[in-house]
Amino acid sequence: MTPDPDLSLDPGLARAILDACDSLREATIETLFRLVRCPSTLGNEHSALDEMARQYEALGLAPRRIPTVVTEDPIFSPPLLPYEGRDNVVALHEPRERRGRSLLLQGHVDVVPAGAAELWTSPPFRPEIRDGRIYGRGAGDMKAGIAAWLSAFAALRRAGVQPAAPVQMHAVIEEECTGNGAAACMLALPRCDAVVIPEPGPGVEALYTAEVGVVWAWITVTGRPAHVRDKQAGVNAIEAAQVIVDRFRRYEEEQNRPERIHPAFRGVRHPVNVNLGSIEGGEWVSSVPMRCRIGLRVGVMVGRSAAEVREDILRIVEEARADPALAGARIEVTFRGFMAEPCVFDTAAPIVALARRCYAEATGGSLSDYPAPGLTDGRHFVLRQGTQVAVFGPDARDIHGVDESVGVESLHGCTRALALLMAAWCGVEKA
Ligand SMILES: [Zn+2]
Repeated sequence: MTPDPDLSLDPGLARAILDACDSLREATIETLFRLVRCPSTLGNEHSALDEMARQYEALGLAPRRIPTVVTEDPIFSPPLLPYEGRDNVVALHEPRERRGRSLLLQGHVDVVPAGAAELWTSPPFRPEIRDGRIYGRGAGDMKAGIAAWLSAFAALRRAGVQPAAPVQMHAVIEEECTGNGAAACMLALPRCDAVVIPEPGPGVEALYTAEVGVVWAWITVTGRPAHVRDKQAGVNAIEAAQVIVDRFRRYEEEQNRPERIHPAFRGVRHPVNVNLGSIEGGEWVSSVPMRCRIGLRVGVMVGRSAAEVREDILRIVEEARADPALAGARIEVTFRGFMAEPCVFDTAAPIVALARRCYAEATGGSLSDYPAPGLTDGRHFVLRQGTQVAVFGPDARDIHGVDESVGVESLHGCTRALALLMAAWCGVEKA
C-alpha cells in the first residue's frame, strides 16, 4: 500500500520546513543535551519529566501530567516501584480547524543505568560531541528521538504553519522495564490515527519491522547455611542458582532453533535472548551462602505469548528442583517488570510508507529494516488499539553499553524526516 495522494507535500512548503529544521540544528542539540543531563534512571525520572514540561511550554503547549495507574489489565506489567511523583508528561496540540489525520509522537525519558562510569570516555550524564557523535547515557535511546520531534514541531511553526490535526506528544517512563508509562498515557487519551516512536536503529538509521516480547523473572534460592568446614552439610545458594541458570542456557538454545523463529526474524542471529541480568547473593566469604537472587530477562518470539514463556520459566525451575545440587534448597519465582508480548509492525501501513518516503526526502538515505531482538512501547498501540505505528530512528551505538552515542547528522536527518512526516500526515494550517 502506498500513502494516500493527499499525503504529498507542496514542494515549496517542504523546502521551507527543511530550512526551518536546519536553522534549528543548534537548538536541537541543546535540547538533547538538556535531556541527557537528566540522570533519568528508574525512579529518578523527575528531572527529565520536568525538562519535558519546559520544552512543551517553549512550544506554546500546556504540559499535562498523566499518572501511571496500573490495573489488572494485562497490558500492564507488574511494577517494580510505586508511581508517586513520576507522572508521565504529555502535551496536546489542537488545530484551529481539523483537516488532516491525528498523530501521536511518543518517547521514553527513562534510561538504563550507566554502569561503571569510570569506563566512559566522558561522564555518562555530561553530554559531549566527539567526531560527529553526541555521547551520553540516553543520547541514542531515546532522547535524540524526543529532541527530534520537539524540533520538528518547532520547525513547522518557524515555517509559518502548524499541524491541521491533533498532535499528541507523550514523554513516558518505564519503557526499559514495564512499558506501563506508555500504556497509561495511551489509555488516558483519545486514540490517534497513527503513532511515531523514534527509537534508535542499531548503528544505522532503521525502521522496526518486528520486536520480541520480554518477561522478567526473579528467582530467589535459599540454601542451607553452614560453616565452610562443614561445607557438605550446607546447600550453597549461589551454586544452586548457577545450576538453574545453566538450565536457562539450554532453553535459550532451544528457543533459537531455526524452526522456532518466526519469519519476521529470519536472518537475525540469535533473536531470543536470555540475559542473566542481575545477581545478589552470599553473606560471608567463609560461610556457605544462604541466599541468592537472580534477575532473568527472557525473550518471547513472535508466535508465542508472554504467558507461555512465564509457564516455561516456572517449568524450568520446577525441573531444576530435582537436581541433586538443589536438594534441600528453597526456590521462589516472582514476576516483576516486563510481561510484554512480541509484535510485528505492519510495514504496509500508510504511516510506515510515509516515514520511509519522508526519511528519503529529508536525508537522501533509506531506513534499514530492523526486526528487533529488544522491545519498544510500540507494541501497545499495535496489539491493543490496532493503530498503525512507525518506529524508526537515528543511528545509535552502544545503547545500554559504555559510551552510548548518536550521530549528529543522523539526529538532524531524523528531525527533518519527522517534520515532513508531521506536515504531510496532519496537513497544515497557518501558525
Ligand atoms: Zn528505547
